[in-house]
Amino acid sequence: MLLITPPLTQLNTPYPATTQLKSFLDSMGHPSEQVDLGIELVNSVFTSSFLESTFPLGHPVRSGYIGTVDSVMRFLRGDDPSLAVRICSRTFLPEGKRFADIDDLEWSFGASGVEDKARYLATLYIEDLADYVRQDLDPNFELIRYAEHICTYAETFDDIALWLEKPLTPVESEMLRLLDSHLHNHRPSVVAFTVPFPGCLLAALRCSQHIKSNYPDIVVCLGGGFPNTEWRRLREPRLFDYVDYVTLDDGELPLLRLLKHIGGELPADKLLRTYCRHDGEVRYISYEHPDMPVQVVNDRLPAPDFSGLPFGLYLSTADIANPMQRLWSCGRWNKLMMAHGCYWAKCAFCDTSLDYIGRYDAPRATTVVDRMERVMRQTSCSGFHFVDEALPPKLLREVCEEILRRRLVVSFWGNIRFEKVYDASFCSLLASAGCIAVSGGLEVASDRLLKMIGKGVSVRQTIDAARNFRDAGILVHTYLMYGFPTETLDETIGALENVRQMFDEGIVQSAFWHRYAMTVHSPSGRAPQNYSAVVRGVIGKNPFCNNEIPFDYNFGYDLDAVGDILRIATYNYMNGLGLDMPARKWFKNLKTTF
Ligand code: SF4
Repeated sequence: MLLITPPLTQLNTPYPATTQLKSFLDSMGHPSEQVDLGIELVNSVFTSSFLESTFPLGHPVRSGYIGTVDSVMRFLRGDDPSLAVRICSRTFLPEGKRFADIDDLEWSFGASGVEDKARYLATLYIEDLADYVRQDLDPNFELIRYAEHICTYAETFDDIALWLEKPLTPVESEMLRLLDSHLHNHRPSVVAFTVPFPGCLLAALRCSQHIKSNYPDIVVCLGGGFPNTEWRRLREPRLFDYVDYVTLDDGELPLLRLLKHIGGELPADKLLRTYCRHDGEVRYISYEHPDMPVQVVNDRLPAPDFSGLPFGLYLSTADIANPMQRLWSCGRWNKLMMAHGCYWAKCAFCDTSLDYIGRYDAPRATTVVDRMERVMRQTSCSGFHFVDEALPPKLLREVCEEILRRRLVVSFWGNIRFEKVYDASFCSLLASAGCIAVSGGLEVASDRLLKMIGKGVSVRQTIDAARNFRDAGILVHTYLMYGFPTETLDETIGALENVRQMFDEGIVQSAFWHRYAMTVHSPSGRAPQNYSAVVRGVIGKNPFCNNEIPFDYNFGYDLDAVGDILRIATYNYMNGLGLDMPARKWFKNLKTTF
């Protein structure tokens, strides 16, 4: 089996799905290989040879970028740090539109931060170049997502089908050339695509279409975070012109049963959490029987296997000087999951009815640290990003103690809930074990709304926990939310004011505002009447994607405008600006519609 992460996801480190699937399938006697087609594509597109062969003579890319792109990519891959000084000279790279609003670099990086400054400039350069690729070669290309706008909230398959009928773009041809080389090398009988986000669905389907036309004996299946949330009520048979099977939730056991079925050991009606097409209709098969496990017990899962991934190709980029923000795009992190699901699983806006959040299953601390040691040996990298929805504090404490007992030198970060348990002594233990940063939801940053959404923490508790993290030297990022039904403008202004004060005190280093989305899998989507929201239309009627629920609630102000204000104000805070101005001033031109 060949496991593929299709274009495009993040650039600095592999997405964690195939590593886990590979180790499980190998341990069950079904050898597999894994490919990160996204990072390979980025490394192919941003080369002088690709640009020279695709952009016409006289195009600005040919004059400014072809002579520098290979050097910049070497620098971003970490192969040529000596280029930093030339990049910082501001005469080496062409400066496109992103350089027009460059902030004061000395203020952001100091006089000696040459490498950081060069990384920032090189990132702007690559983003500008990505704009040219999108503008002139492929309208769906963005640096970390592909065709996201077509696949997000796609109620029907129509637009995607239309795109799949269009001639290949030069970027797609390059992607399929890379795919061909893997198919020739590995000669798989089954190809499985993991689709974590809408921004990799179209590329996965383009690849599947190519496989179906040119390698008709290969079975194609697809799974991952996007199908798990969007395709619980899938009724679109045309999808199966491109793929043979779609699996839901954790892929280990559905793929294992599928392999057994393909090998003739298991009849089709014993597949697990799997869609296929039968007599022109979509059929969902999920055979559950006490003799056949439907979940893998976390403690028995083998450590993820990173072998075969192209570590030399990942890029460290940074489009902001903020040290916490840079963790997401800079440096390679071994992505691991400590526990399965969320130990809290009660927040009204969260997809708590889905398995990946609602089913909590934690391994022993020694198992977690064994996995860390194995992964470190494989990747020669001691940095870990725990991608749990919320790290369970008890297990986290035991993991820290185990790390210290084994005298491991590691760095790690991940999501937490801002609970009382994060007192000074726990934060100090975390820091000694190697915790460098945490992220957690303060969400609506108002006590009334926090209670309403069932977050289980208060603003005060969050501030206390964030202060303890800061005092221990741990960076803090917070997720924020606006537009929750019943939220008043005064509450939103109060929320921004809380955030301003936290930045001013230095107890958070970065933050991001999300607009509340009502989803079918969340408590608020399952009982919208409890939150004073009126749903528009019939829930779950779409033949293709069903997740976000349109609803009506009269906020009395323009939510888009409020979202812009919150993001701009917070961007300023992250850059150390506007901290002495009361948050209310940002809203002075906002029109209310009461
Ligand atoms: S929002 Fe976070 S803490 Fe709340 S239920 Fe979801 S994963 Fe758990």
